[in-house]
Amino acid sequence: MLKNGEEVLSDLKRLNKEQLIARAKKFAKKYNVGNGEKFKLKNFSTTPKMVLGPEDKPLVKEALEQGIDALAALQDILYAQDRWSLLVIFQAMDAAGKDGAVKHVMSGINPQGCQVTSFKVPSAEDLDHDFLWRCQKHLPERGRIGIFNRSYYEEVLVVRVHEAILQNQKLPKKLITKKIWKERFEDIRNFEQYLQRNGTVVIKIFLHVSKEEQKQRFIDRIDDPEKNWKFSTGDIKERGYWNEYQEAYEDMIKNTSTKNSPWYIIPADNKAYARIGVAAAIISALDRMDLAYPEVSPEKVAELQEIKKALLEEKA
Ligand code: ATP
Ligand code: MG
Repeated sequence: MLKNGEEVLSDLKRLNKEQLIARAKKFAKKYNVGNGEKFKLKNFSTTPKMVLGPEDKPLVKEALEQGIDALAALQDILYAQDRWSLLVIFQAMDAAGKDGAVKHVMSGINPQGCQVTSFKVPSAEDLDHDFLWRCQKHLPERGRIGIFNRSYYEEVLVVRVHEAILQNQKLPKKLITKKIWKERFEDIRNFEQYLQRNGTVVIKIFLHVSKEEQKQRFIDRIDDPEKNWKFSTGDIKERGYWNEYQEAYEDMIKNTSTKNSPWYIIPADNKAYARIGVAAAIISALDRMDLAYPEVSPEKVAELQEIKKALLEEKA
């Protein structure tokens, strides 16, 4: 249990929107890798620093609800301003909670302003193009938040762990060299910088789950008939490559986390805490944009007042 849980809860309930945003930014900062040059995965834990017990449920619930409210308020301005867009990329090992995080965190926002895309094994049409192609088609429009559930980062994760996939990509042989991962990191960095320069901010979220917690979640999926559908035997095969994946994640984050497009390493062994972390990361990204409702000119205000007057004077 949190030492001063009740105090924190009543404190949280008193915060206004600006204070909530400031709180969220401070929270997200702990998990923001920023420039990845010195990144080491072992410096990031899969569990939150604070020990949360069942008694802390009301606090955790309140924190997430408050986060969602702040997020919704910012999204409303993003949409109205119609200049910036935000791309939030989720990557994680199986059962880390990507789907649940997307579902809960985005639950309070206007569906018109949000697009979720899941990337599975590439189709034959996808393989007839470069690796960014299928993702480019789903980039968020201005004013929108785009969520990628998996993304072009699979190219330096699953494809790196299973090099046979790379051989099936129809790339000209001459281009498959030892340098390919370094080149892909460079292409991704450039792509994200290009997006940033055109008004699409990209943030990347790694839901960092432990091998032990994944095991427990797989067992739960097997034990609970309503969760059976979530379990695929392929997940066990991938679990066998746990260390290879962790190394690939570390190298990927080291090479693609930048100040403008950072990775957030969110401890994901506690699902509720992870969702708060995700909300906080999105809030900080939105807050870094110069969001404002479009300004209305004095002429337009006068015109609106005229219309209001006419409406009020309208005869039935
Ligand atoms: P769920 O939570 O429903 O299991 P999921 O994202 O794991 O969601 P699946 O259909 O189980 O969806 O898995 C998608 C699979 O597609 C993953 O194993 C992923 O590694 C793989 N994949 C995604 N992108 C690529 C890619 N570019 N090349 C090869 N495999 C890919
Ligand atoms: Mg899966």
